[in-house]
Amino acid sequence: MMKLLKTSSLLLPLFLFSCTTAHVIEKESPSVVANTTTEQLTASVISSADETSLTSAIKPVKLTSITNQSCAIGKVRLTANFAAGRMDECKRVAENEFDIILVPENTPINSSPWYAFKIQAEQNTDIKITMRVRGDNHRYPPKISRDGKTWQLQKYKIKGKRLIMKVTASPKPIIIAAQEIINNQYYVDWAKKLTDENSFTHSVLGLSTQGRPIYKIESRNPQTNEWVIILGRQHPPEVTGALALFPFVETLLSSSELSNYFLRKYNVLVIPNINPDGVDAGNWRSNANGLDLNRDWVDFTQVETRLINDYLQHLVAQGQKIKFAIDFHSTKSDIFYTMPVDYGIEKAYFVRHWLAELDRQMPNFNVVLRPGNNPDLGVSKQYFSDKFGIHAITYEMGDNTDRTKIKLIAFKSANILMINMLSDVDHDKQ
Ligand SMILES: [Zn+2]
Repeated sequence: MMKLLKTSSLLLPLFLFSCTTAHVIEKESPSVVANTTTEQLTASVISSADETSLTSAIKPVKLTSITNQSCAIGKVRLTANFAAGRMDECKRVAENEFDIILVPENTPINSSPWYAFKIQAEQNTDIKITMRVRGDNHRYPPKISRDGKTWQLQKYKIKGKRLIMKVTASPKPIIIAAQEIINNQYYVDWAKKLTDENSFTHSVLGLSTQGRPIYKIESRNPQTNEWVIILGRQHPPEVTGALALFPFVETLLSSSELSNYFLRKYNVLVIPNINPDGVDAGNWRSNANGLDLNRDWVDFTQVETRLINDYLQHLVAQGQKIKFAIDFHSTKSDIFYTMPVDYGIEKAYFVRHWLAELDRQMPNFNVVLRPGNNPDLGVSKQYFSDKFGIHAITYEMGDNTDRTKIKLIAFKSANILMINMLSDVDHDKQ
């Protein structure tokens, strides 16, 4: 049964990770993971332990330097000088023991301590790594990859504030990261594959603060002027949001009969990676100016959000109509943030109908729907509703949701969305 949560539930600890929640919420330092052994520790435990504070509009602050290279010499080397790499302070404390401190790019900040580093040794060597987070707790259980593509959960223990793991370093590098690494190049490769040999376009919308390209993918049919907008990766560590966006977009732009029909009625604009500077730096939250892009959709102080707003305004000026928008993120659990049905936007029950059907078709997935309205916060969902009078959602996948399940939810929800947008059901009525 679909669970509908009202805005009044804002203070429930369940939502402390929300990347769209408005206010700073302070909570007692958690002790959930203290003295927990590896065997007892599941992925979800560590994420629920990380409950410090959330931020609203963050003032720009000087960003911390990224990589301390002091572990980059010797027979065993730990490095983070690659795209999306980050370990902040690293110190060799014994022959084969390393301490890493994770430091946010600014404070206060949503608690999302990102890390990604490479380990390489002259010969096979057992090493011990201890990680701490400055002023914060761990959120992401470590993943390990030997090829940079496939990832497994790495064994670890939590002792107080320390996350400890033992790894066998080898001449062939291994990567330890907070989540699977989806870097800027990954998006380019994915989009190229998606847009090869069909009529979809892949092009540069504009440049980020540090001059990195922000790409858009478009399916555009001159027979229609109605658009669905899909956004992703405003927040760099929110990889499960990306893992949902890929199959979701692939389903909309597939060659299925449903998709073909859908793309005759609707144009689709996908901007899958809005914050390439933050992704490259391994930031916890911000763009290169230390600002949370998903708090900038009222003032448009940042080039990344401004580019998108300008492009959408340009479309509208040409007589195009924005009809629906989805912004992909990650948080502690799977949640769909929606606009309230009584907000006065067209087709009041459209999202409710869509997600109720998803809930019906997935008995093993509990659809949690959370309507909310916060006009001054500067999140994209609200921007779409206020600017274009339409529904928009923030599609949040849990940090530790099973990756196959993320795909299945995306596949189902994309298909049901298309059916919902093509049907002649009256979405003004419950
Ligand atoms: Zn987010």
